[in-house]
Amino acid sequence: MKLTLKIVLICLVAMILITAFSSYLIASREFERVKNLQRADATRVGDLIRESVDLAYQSEGQQGIVQALKTQTLETGQIRYRWVWFDVSVNDPNHPAATFDSLDRILKGDIDSVIAAHNGSKQLHTYYPLDVNDEAGKTRKGAIEVSDSLESAEQEAWRTIKTGLAAIAVMTGFCIAIVSWFGIRMIGRPLAKLTEQTQKIGKGIFDEPLILRSNDELGELAASLNEMGQKIADQKRRIANESSARIATMEQLRHADRLKTVGRLAAGIAHEIGTPLNVVSGRAGMIRSGKLSQQELAESAEAIQSESNRIARIVRQLMDFARHNPPKRTNVDLRVLVQQTVELLRTLANKSKVQVSVSYTEDSPFTAFIDESQIQQVLTNLVVNAIQAIPGGGEIEIKIENVHDELLPQENTRDFVQVTIEDNGVGMDEATREHIFEPFFTTKETGQGTGLGLSIAHGIVEEHGGRIEVESQSGVGSTFRIVLPKE
Ligand code: ADP
Repeated sequence: MKLTLKIVLICLVAMILITAFSSYLIASREFERVKNLQRADATRVGDLIRESVDLAYQSEGQQGIVQALKTQTLETGQIRYRWVWFDVSVNDPNHPAATFDSLDRILKGDIDSVIAAHNGSKQLHTYYPLDVNDEAGKTRKGAIEVSDSLESAEQEAWRTIKTGLAAIAVMTGFCIAIVSWFGIRMIGRPLAKLTEQTQKIGKGIFDEPLILRSNDELGELAASLNEMGQKIADQKRRIANESSARIATMEQLRHADRLKTVGRLAAGIAHEIGTPLNVVSGRAGMIRSGKLSQQELAESAEAIQSESNRIARIVRQLMDFARHNPPKRTNVDLRVLVQQTVELLRTLANKSKVQVSVSYTEDSPFTAFIDESQIQQVLTNLVVNAIQAIPGGGEIEIKIENVHDELLPQENTRDFVQVTIEDNGVGMDEATREHIFEPFFTTKETGQGTGLGLSIAHGIVEEHGGRIEVESQSGVGSTFRIVLPKE
């Protein structure tokens, strides 16, 4: 509607300008016509009496000239002919009706017209200058003055302007009606539909194309919008497919990395469940012999139960770790998760003569909003790497603390839980340290390392909105630090 109004206003202004200009042209043409007629008249009369003016003046003075003028003119309507002198005072009846200032060209001998106002009405005076010689040869400057009222020309101009204004008023009405009707139908409504369509696209609704039954530019715009929406929808679908394929691949890689750790732990666990199995089998044999007293029977049954529980716990821990869980975040106490992970890796650490200790800065929960199984994978990778970096036996210190981190761009919180894993193993030189988070980078022998562990850990921590850092010195040891958001 605003556009329609603007079009109406533009049309209106254009019409007013055109009408004003044409009225001005008509009025000035009318004035020119009156002026030319008067000039022709003055020239005709002047030419007729110019030869006899000297003689008339010499014989009868000024009266003679007036007489000569009368015989050649016929005063019709408002046209008046007068003889005027340029050498008389303003009060003299024969002084020109126009002031001397406006008579420059006439005084130089040209025929010219001047407009002067008399009693509120405008008069047009045309002068035909004539030099009059008396008997003594003295020359006086005079002129034939033809005067006419401009009233009728002005009235004509006003009539034209009024007609123009009336035409504008009628045209304005028409214009408003027609432009409003066409504007609303052909521009307003299609534009409103186009605006609605862009809003739909903005909201991500691409499957409702806009049907505009017009074959003008707006129709083309609607078609382009539909095409654009279609292309965005296709692209969105493609991106969604690609990213779900990428997520699936990443999940597979993570699972493969997890199974690699399970394989590494399985050997140690087989050894660990060997001892309780021997106890179970021995006690069962004793029960079967039938030689046990009632109390010994009860003790053996108790031993069988506790050893079976131990085996079940070890197997459950390994199965829990190996299981492929769908991603899910919950509030997890990292102190508990770290303990579970250390427990799982205890056999591997013992085998390598590595002492693992866990410490906390305070005696309160270190809750973070994380995917438990993914973060356990990260912790496992870091601890397994540390164990492998201490070939002759050594120590791993795990420290858990609550920190306030300004570096991470979390919207609502700057509170994080930090887990530091420090070993006194072989450490890394700078060249190795620069590449450790790259996929498939490994310094381990073939079959020992895949180079996936740290890149997967890095991906998981970043996805959690956290950070992973490393400090290491060749021959001294390494410190890995992970920071995870509390909320
Ligand atoms: P992988 O363990 O299969 O080699 P990772 O991505 O876990 O793959 O580790 C990449 C490399 O980083 C290792 O090959 C090793 O050189 C180095 N690295 C990781 N952790 C440590 C550590 N605690 N001490 C020394 N080097 C390490």
